[in-house]
Amino acid sequence: MTRVIILLGAPGAGKGTQAVRLSQALGLPHVSTGDLFRENISQGTELGGRAKAYLESGQLVPDDLTVDMLFDRTSRPDCADGYMLDGFPRTVPQAEALGERLGDGAPLTVLNIEVPDDIIVERSAGRLLCRECGNIQHKSFSPPAQEGVCDACSGELYQRKDDQPEVVQERLGVYHAQTEPLVGHYGDQGVCLSVDGNRAPDEVFAGCLASLEVEA
Ligand code: AMP
Repeated sequence: MTRVIILLGAPGAGKGTQAVRLSQALGLPHVSTGDLFRENISQGTELGGRAKAYLESGQLVPDDLTVDMLFDRTSRPDCADGYMLDGFPRTVPQAEALGERLGDGAPLTVLNIEVPDDIIVERSAGRLLCRECGNIQHKSFSPPAQEGVCDACSGELYQRKDDQPEVVQERLGVYHAQTEPLVGHYGDQGVCLSVDGNRAPDEVFAGCLASLEVEA
């Protein structure tokens, strides 16, 4: 049966960083809708063209486009035994579409990474992303050995346009209005586990593993 782990949390809470590590530890593919949109935009696909303005302004891409793109990705063979979702679902209708797709009784675990808003704003301002491998670093908390160069693959590090302070505020507002209700949605299903995300990445990782009851 397909095991699905959802990483929930505000933009900049550390979902991407933890997803990369958890996906290695658990052997589940890391599926990030944000990465999929950014790939489509950089490749100039039709989907990328339709999504671009939403990403740049910090708004959510419409549910139908997002759900189709996600299901297209999760129907590939590497997701047959399970996958780790980073940035999906972000709305109740997306969660409902996923629930229908998985059916009753599918093993679903939601890790809700909690970080206060003021820390999110500080973190996002220094976040660096690798163009090649998607590795996430930070100007202060995990500075690259060589400026602008990814420690993991030597690819080019860049700052996301939507990590500018005004866009981060917009994304936080969108998160509270549209995504935070999922904590209650999954809480009602008894599958939502809280992890304190306001710690060093290693400690958050240990917290995620402990919540999943996996040995480090
Ligand atoms: P992320 O990399 O997860 O922070 O996502 C970056 C941007 O991609 C978001 O601000 C949205 O514009 C878009 N996006 C990512 N995932 C979703 C989703 N599940 N639903 C709608 N829009 C999304």
